[in-house]
Amino acid sequence: LKNINVALIGNPNVGKTSVFNQLTGLNQQVGNYPGITVEKKMGFCKLPNNIKANILDLPGTYSLNASSIDESVVIELLLNKNDRLYPDVALVVTDVENLKRNLLLYTQIKDLEIPTILVINMADRMETKGISLDILYLEEHLKTKIALISSRKGHGIEELKNLIISYKTISAEPCLNASVIDKPYFDSLQQAFPNQLLYKLWLVITQDVNFLNLERNEIRSTFTKSHSDLKRLQQKETIKRYQFINNVLKEGLKIDTSIAKDYRSKLDRVLTHKVWGYAIFFVI
Ligand code: GDP
Ligand code: MG
Repeated sequence: LKNINVALIGNPNVGKTSVFNQLTGLNQQVGNYPGITVEKKMGFCKLPNNIKANILDLPGTYSLNASSIDESVVIELLLNKNDRLYPDVALVVTDVENLKRNLLLYTQIKDLEIPTILVINMADRMETKGISLDILYLEEHLKTKIALISSRKGHGIEELKNLIISYKTISAEPCLNASVIDKPYFDSLQQAFPNQLLYKLWLVITQDVNFLNLERNEIRSTFTKSHSDLKRLQQKETIKRYQFINNVLKEGLKIDTSIAKDYRSKLDRVLTHKVWGYAIFFVI
């Protein structure tokens, strides 16, 4: 039986490497600053029912509109179905406190029609921050399965493993139809390459990464646009994605700010005590 290829994808600092360590039992360095994972790291995970998975820890990336080498590494992998590391299932890891921003990348991965599990990490922070999630609602509208976990505490990891095993039942449906960015342009693009995924064509046009894809030059020569037009369309893409995300989060995410405030003032009191403690210590 072939190992399941699992790729960990997400913004910097959301806990990808911590999830990697939980799944593989390895001990990669976890960093509290972005960009610590500068290359792909591979590990191995034993799942229930004797199933095995290759776990790939990818560099942090904010979006598929590549601007850094880290991001190109991710895009190149996701556009090459022939790559031996091409994921059977993607785990998009997010931080529950930054869900809105983190979901931008999620919608882009979904639009590549890769079966994707949404991993919402740092669940241990929800109580103190007054955050509550309607998981069923989010699953339905984001067209996925969600694993709510705390990779720091090891909570939810077994559930995540069970989701990975059932990756064949996880939706590969896109979130956004790329044609909403500019209908005439995208319609003609799709007509010219009817068998290609529209969003993938769009990435081939906008990104400067090496594809094994032979049609790249053909696509580019026919559908090229000025740099400023491409930038404008990319901005429109981002706006459309955030509209989608905001709509979903309006119902699926609640933040009770009074709890967060209450907690903060409690924390302030503790810190004040500490400061006084040290002050008194020094005076004595
Ligand atoms: P990466 O950049 O996505 O690989 O993230 P890391 O795994 O390096 O983690 C970034 C920071 O978040 C580190 O300081 C971790 O200790 C912290 N972190 C990771 N998972 C959790 C979690 O579940 N809860 C909390 N509170 N912190 C976490
Ligand atoms: Mg990392």
